[in-house]
Amino acid sequence: MSIPCDILVFGGTGDLALRKLLPALYQLYRQNRLHNAVRIIALARQPLSRRDYLKRVERHGRAQIAPADFDDELWRRFCARLDYFAMDAAQGADFVRLARYLGEPGGLTRIFYLATAPSLFASIAGHLRLAGLADPEARIVLEKPIGHSLASAQAINHAIGAVFEESQVFRIDHYLGKETVQNLMALRFANALLEPVWRNAQVDHVQISVCETLGVENRGAYYDRAGATRDMLQNHLLQLLCLVAMEPPAQFEAEAVRDEKVKILRALRPLGDQDVQDQTVRGQYSAGRIGGQEVPAYYFEKDVDHDSDTETFVAVQAHIENWRWAGVPFYLRTGKRMARRSSQIVIQFKPVPHALFASEQVNQLLIRLQPEERISLRMMTKRPGKGMHLAPVDLDLNLAQAFGHTRRWDAYERLLLDILEGDSTLFMRRDEVEAAWAWIDPILKGWEAHFQAPRPYPAGSNGPEQANSLLANQGRQWHD
Ligand code: NAP
Repeated sequence: MSIPCDILVFGGTGDLALRKLLPALYQLYRQNRLHNAVRIIALARQPLSRRDYLKRVERHGRAQIAPADFDDELWRRFCARLDYFAMDAAQGADFVRLARYLGEPGGLTRIFYLATAPSLFASIAGHLRLAGLADPEARIVLEKPIGHSLASAQAINHAIGAVFEESQVFRIDHYLGKETVQNLMALRFANALLEPVWRNAQVDHVQISVCETLGVENRGAYYDRAGATRDMLQNHLLQLLCLVAMEPPAQFEAEAVRDEKVKILRALRPLGDQDVQDQTVRGQYSAGRIGGQEVPAYYFEKDVDHDSDTETFVAVQAHIENWRWAGVPFYLRTGKRMARRSSQIVIQFKPVPHALFASEQVNQLLIRLQPEERISLRMMTKRPGKGMHLAPVDLDLNLAQAFGHTRRWDAYERLLLDILEGDSTLFMRRDEVEAAWAWIDPILKGWEAHFQAPRPYPAGSNGPEQANSLLANQGRQWHD
């Protein structure tokens, strides 16, 4: 059971709040994880009555929550804890009204969840302080992206840091709430078997791919300003890279884990001007077909500029300059409107030192996050029958079979519970966010300096041809 608290969701009418946060809070309530005194207050500018807001929440709740989990009576009781407060988060006077509405904390911890554009983060923090709402018990949750560059991320972190201690700040990257991502840590740090081969002597290269078939949906205006690099690479992909590459922490607790992650981000070899040309590919989807459906080019999507040069695809070759990973390329790739929806990490091992058999002999560890959660180790085996003909066969960690019908937690459920319990292990620390931006900034600047327009790729493909060449030039290929 969590602490007694007020959870204030700024951006309460937004996509994230309605589709993810409120359904996740309902799931926690359903599992009796919320304290009896918890109140949830959604905040946004729209002048909605509580009744109209609850109707909206229910419509989304029914669409998001599995019917077996949606219990009408429980939902009614959950909604009794939910209120809507119309306010403009840019107006100081509205925070004074908010403080009056909330009343004295009376032992309740206040959790401010900022599910708004990052441009509002600094002013919300400042207004919270002026209205006397930012007491030492309060917690503030920041959604990614934290800024759009190193300088803007530093400015946000500085403004937040002027009001809240770092221990009060929870920077969410929801990939870290995914079961398989946490399993990656279990796999690495609870199995002695892998540690001796988890290094440059045995690993040929690592691939981290997050491919979506979706386009920008209703987020065209935001996405067109952000692009794949800021939206995905700077946070989700670099976080996955950290978990693959970090050293074992001394303890499984917030500071020790985050210390190791930040060391990896700081060890990333900076990409100079020429590296940006040679080791990165940016792309943008043109019209194509996905699952038999025609889809328009990116620049015809809703709220996107018709002459937009925003990238919807990015591939980068990264290097980590430390003893463990020297010489091992990490290929990172993410894109929208790709052929298949799949998020995966592939650890490709080196071939055996002396080949006895005719076919290629390589081991591969595949950690798949989407569409299904799966971990498998590709081993070479002999085909039945005459002769030594080899074939790869996967050793599967079948999590569904091992854990039966245990319900899979949504990433937001897990992370919200961690916030309520004050555990920041799975959240990004200030220096992590800034180290990630410090590596990304030169890529963005390099493209700008060279007017490097995104390469077109047909929707429903695996991205621009240049992304294949990035690996093919080194005798490798994407694991699709
Ligand atoms: P959204 O649908 O555009 O929602 C934005 C919310 O902010 C709305 O509730 C809006 O309501 C409110 N808002 C805007 N200006 C405000 C102001 N001055 N005062 C008070 N409320 C204000 O955006 P979203 O998709 O929910 O995303 C929110 C943030 O989370 C973004 O930074 C996004 O990048 C990030 N994020 C989203 C997702 C996702 O799945 N959607 C995932 C990860 C991260 P009013 O207009 O009524 O004020």
